[in-house]
Amino acid sequence: MSISIALPVRKNDYENKPVLFYNDMYRANINMNKSEAIKEIKKSLKFYQGLGFTHLPVHKTALEGLLDNILTDKKKKTGITDLRVSEKKAGYIADKQAVLKALRGEIGDCQRCKLAKGRKNIVFGEGNYDAKIMFIGEGPGREEDIQARPFVGDAGKLLTRLIEKMGFKREDVYIANIVKCRPPNNRDPEEDEIAACSPFLKQQVEIILPGVIMSLGRISAQTLTGSKIAISRLRGRSYDFNGIPLMPTFHPAYLLRNPKDKQLTWEDALKVLEKLKKP
Ligand code: SF4
Repeated sequence: MSISIALPVRKNDYENKPVLFYNDMYRANINMNKSEAIKEIKKSLKFYQGLGFTHLPVHKTALEGLLDNILTDKKKKTGITDLRVSEKKAGYIADKQAVLKALRGEIGDCQRCKLAKGRKNIVFGEGNYDAKIMFIGEGPGREEDIQARPFVGDAGKLLTRLIEKMGFKREDVYIANIVKCRPPNNRDPEEDEIAACSPFLKQQVEIILPGVIMSLGRISAQTLTGSKIAISRLRGRSYDFNGIPLMPTFHPAYLLRNPKDKQLTWEDALKVLEKLKKP
């Protein structure tokens, strides 16, 4: 059996091979036997084809896992070795806008966690699909919930000033949150809500592939680093998030209450700019 023949997806221009989306690989890679995995991938590909996709990206890690664990048993003549892509090209996504649109479609009218009840809008995230910097906060506030856009209140204005001080326009960067629906009374998102929503954010990061991520505030820093350390100790140091440099800093809402710490955030921003200069 060969997936490259069986699947109804056109060949991609630069690799001349069918490619699959990270999510399909990921789902197929967990607790599935080969036929279940293929069924799952076919289902996803039909979904994307229905949306008008002609090619889909592949993530190197997911691909390796899939090939290693399920589909590369040459002795069984699966034929799946056709799906191999070079390391250089793995991770490249030809049409990020379309893939992000598909991800938004997959989220739909999401009811996956209890934040769905109180929200007005899902705040997906916005900005440049090819952004060098991605800013990640914790969740939408009141104004963001109304406008369905991230960081549009007073904290958003301060973030925009930081972005401009760093030499960018707001539309040059990508801005998102750990959870996409407003927690009631602006409380912190809870662990089950973060667990339900953060996989979408991780996919956004996979698609955008920024040069650097700047996380804003405790929740974002702790979620992305997997640490419980206080933000005052996490900030200012570089971490790795799925191969992307991550610089935690304070949340702009905190800086509005504690303007003396703006200088520390600026020092963090300078380190981010340094990182971007490096090849
Ligand atoms: S916060 Fe995320 S997981 Fe929860 S309902 Fe909103 S979009 Fe769905």
